[in-house]
Amino acid sequence: MHLFSDKYVSDMERPNLHDLTYERLEALLVSWGQSPAHARPTWLALYRELITGAEQVTGLPDALVRQLVTRTILTVPRRLTLIEAPDGATRKDLLELADGETVEVVLLRYRQRRSACISTQVGCACGCTFCATGQMGFVRQLQPGEIVAQVLHVQRTMVVVGEQLTNLVLMGMGEPLLNYDNTLTALQILLDKRGLGLPPRRVTLSTVGIVPGILRLAEEDLGINLAVSLHAATDALRTRLMPINARHPLDALFAALMLYTERTGRRVMFEWVLVDGVTDTPEQAAALVERLRGFPAHVNLILLNPTGDYTARPSPPGAVEAFTAALDHAGIPHTMRQRRGNVIAAGCGQLRQRQNDL
Ligand code: SAH
Ligand code: SF4
Repeated sequence: MHLFSDKYVSDMERPNLHDLTYERLEALLVSWGQSPAHARPTWLALYRELITGAEQVTGLPDALVRQLVTRTILTVPRRLTLIEAPDGATRKDLLELADGETVEVVLLRYRQRRSACISTQVGCACGCTFCATGQMGFVRQLQPGEIVAQVLHVQRTMVVVGEQLTNLVLMGMGEPLLNYDNTLTALQILLDKRGLGLPPRRVTLSTVGIVPGILRLAEEDLGINLAVSLHAATDALRTRLMPINARHPLDALFAALMLYTERTGRRVMFEWVLVDGVTDTPEQAAALVERLRGFPAHVNLILLNPTGDYTARPSPPGAVEAFTAALDHAGIPHTMRQRRGNVIAAGCGQLRQRQNDL
C-alpha cells in the first residue's frame, strides 16, 4: 500500500516503468506470471510511441494492460517554464518532478543535429565556484526514470514538429558519476535499440573528474563519449575553482583517463571555461599543453557564462586568441563552443537559479 501514490515511488512492488531496463521489464512481467514476450510491445509503446500512461499500450491482452495500470507507475514531468531563443535554435525547459523539485532540459538545434542536454541530479555537491548548479548545493539524486523522462520530453516536443532527437549530452545539472548507477541504467534504456536507440557515439557524458566513476565507466563498454571539465591544469588553481580537485587531483585524474583511453580506444574531450585573467593565462595554457602531451584529446573552449555569485568575466578576444594559438602550436585539436545558450540563460543550473530568485 502506497501512502504517496501520486509521488515518485519505484520499487519492485510498484515500479516506475521508465526506471526499468528491457531485461528488468521482462523480469517484472515474468514475476506476474506473464510471458516475457510482452515486453516488446510495452517497450515500443514507451520509447517509440512515447506514451504518457500505461493504458495507452497497444498489442497486449486487456488484463495485462490493466495490470500495468494498477501495478506500475509512469510519471511524466510537468513543464513549468519554457524559454526559447528568438531564432528558435535553443530552447530550455524547467521540468517539475513528482516531488515538486525541478530540473533543466535544453534543446539545441544545429543544422542537422538536434541535441538534448539533460540533468542527472537536482543541484550538485561539487561546488564549482563559477557554476550556478554548484552554487545551489546538492538537493537529491535523480532516479533513472527521471533522467529518461527528460529525454522523452524533448523527443515529444520534436516529434510534433516532424523532428527527431539525434544527440544527447549529460551536461545539465549535477555530476553524473556521483549518481553512477541511476545514470548507467538510464543510458542503457536510452541506448537500447529496441526503443529510442540513441547511437552511443552521439551521446556524451560530462564529468568533473570523479576518478572511481571514470574507472568503472572504462569497464562498461557503452561506446559513449566522455567529456571532462578540466578548466585548470594546475592543482592549485583547479582546487580553487573546483573543490572536488582536492579529492581527485590532476595526477590521479589523468592516470584514470589514460586507463580509460586504453580500455575504450576513445579520445577524451576536455572542457575549458575561459575566465578572464584566471584560466586564460599563458601559464595555464603552458600547463595544459604539458598535461595533454601525447594524450588523445580534444579541447572544447567555453566562454564563461556569468552566474549569480561568481563575478569574474569571460575572456576578452585577445586572450582567447593567445590561448588557442598555444594549443595550435602544440598540435592540440580544439573547438570553441557557441555561446548561444547565454541568451536564454542556458548555462548549467541558471534557469532554476533564476526561478528561485523570483
Ligand atoms: N557535472 C558535470 C556536468 C554538468 S556541468 C561537469 O561538471 O562536467 C556542464 C559543463 O558546464 C561543465 O563543463 C561545467 O564546467 C560548465 N559550466 C558550469 N558553469 C558554467 C559557466 N558559468 N560558464 C560556462 N560553463 C559552465
Ligand atoms: Fe557540479 Fe558540474 Fe557544476 Fe561542478 S560544473 S558544480 S560538477 S554541475
